[in-house]
Amino acid sequence: MTTILPECDIPIPQRQPHIVCHEPGNMILPMCNIQTVPGDMTERGCTFAGCRGVVGGPVKDAIQLVHGPIGCAYYTWGTRRNLSDVKLHRKYCFSTDLTEESVIYGGAKKLLNSIIEAHELFPEGKAVFVYSTCVVGLIGDDTDAICKQAQEKIGIPVVPFHCEGFRGVSQSLGHHIANRTLFEKVVGTEEPETTTPYDMCIIGEFNIDGDAWIVKPLFERMGVRVLSVFTGNASYHDIPPMHRAKLNIVQCQRSSTYIAKMIQDKYNIPYINVSLFGMKQTADALRDVGKFFHLEENAEKVIAEELAKYQPMIDHYRKKLEGKKCFIYQGAPRAWHWIDPMRELGIEAILTATTFGHKDDYEKIMEKAKPGHICIDNPNALEIEEYLVKLKPDFFIGGLKEKYLTYKLGIPFINGHSYEEGPYAGFEGFVNFAKDIDVAVNSPVWKFINLPLEVK
Ligand code: SF4
Repeated sequence: MTTILPECDIPIPQRQPHIVCHEPGNMILPMCNIQTVPGDMTERGCTFAGCRGVVGGPVKDAIQLVHGPIGCAYYTWGTRRNLSDVKLHRKYCFSTDLTEESVIYGGAKKLLNSIIEAHELFPEGKAVFVYSTCVVGLIGDDTDAICKQAQEKIGIPVVPFHCEGFRGVSQSLGHHIANRTLFEKVVGTEEPETTTPYDMCIIGEFNIDGDAWIVKPLFERMGVRVLSVFTGNASYHDIPPMHRAKLNIVQCQRSSTYIAKMIQDKYNIPYINVSLFGMKQTADALRDVGKFFHLEENAEKVIAEELAKYQPMIDHYRKKLEGKKCFIYQGAPRAWHWIDPMRELGIEAILTATTFGHKDDYEKIMEKAKPGHICIDNPNALEIEEYLVKLKPDFFIGGLKEKYLTYKLGIPFINGHSYEEGPYAGFEGFVNFAKDIDVAVNSPVWKFINLPLEVK
């Protein structure tokens, strides 16, 4: 049997095709990217969450205005640690605060006034991003027309994102909408001051806990000019010149390949997929870029310098972590980005789950998985609990929603979304990652806990 059903799902057998046990030579993928099964308490985010929370939100000098009831905006305030070097970013949450009255009479006036008010209060904002949530889709505000009107009044770009939460089955559609909107409305609207033969964009890098600040200099040391990072620590004005890059590299291939493909199709700029987690994958990324720009020697020099500095630390942590087993539960790409780096630390992932993975994410997981590896699409908290209790991993990598569940079960936890003490990308970041796993797994606190692990 390649599909299995945990006991907690007996009342909802429709979950069965979403949970797969890997058998060599018989690759069956979990059913994915479809509506959540009725009765299942999903942990997924909505389309708006993907658009605002993942792709648009990190743009550091845009006023991020949520057009909808205040409840939608609640979780946009500083929940993802996309760091930036400007004060406006992540400090404020803007919302039109739609109420029953707006549902009856429309929210157009409120939106126009909110854009003008936010701009007056924060004139340092270089653009206004307006995100429509479910209610706006239902009452049918003409946000395009209002944003155009507002743009003429305040004199800076006002960009509407049609990312109503109900539009997609998960946050994944929100990524796509954000990519398409920024490509259609922003990319190509400004030229860079200068161009060089070595201009590149790093796409799908959101500067979680400073990842971009670690990886960007690696490429710059090779002689590459990073024209834009999409969208970690990005200024609004970093996005328009993306059409002048010579190459794009794509790190988060679930949330951002869309814009790389659109740029390739329209401007004939190629892109390559990379992973910037782990020593080998990061070195491979530098080599691929070096090959493209004919900077192979420079790439090897940077890799040699980094390995000389950081490989001994990785070797140190490997000795402490060898033989451990983990669960990986991430949005999607990190689930497969981290399988090989774990092996560099002597750790095997025995279960991998994603919230919004697509077929290609699960193919990549299964290509890397060992026999018996369990793969779950869109797990709920009960499934996670049951597998934690039954399989007893040495640690769990997930998001804050699962942190206290794992602690209650006496299992070490790593925050893979916003990190513990990141950054985690690049060579140096991988040392932070290894250190955090060591701190979590080898903490003496676990010796004082003796919980009977059983499912009721
Ligand atoms: S599903 Fe709709 S109402 Fe709920 S947070 Fe998302 S946009 Fe707001």
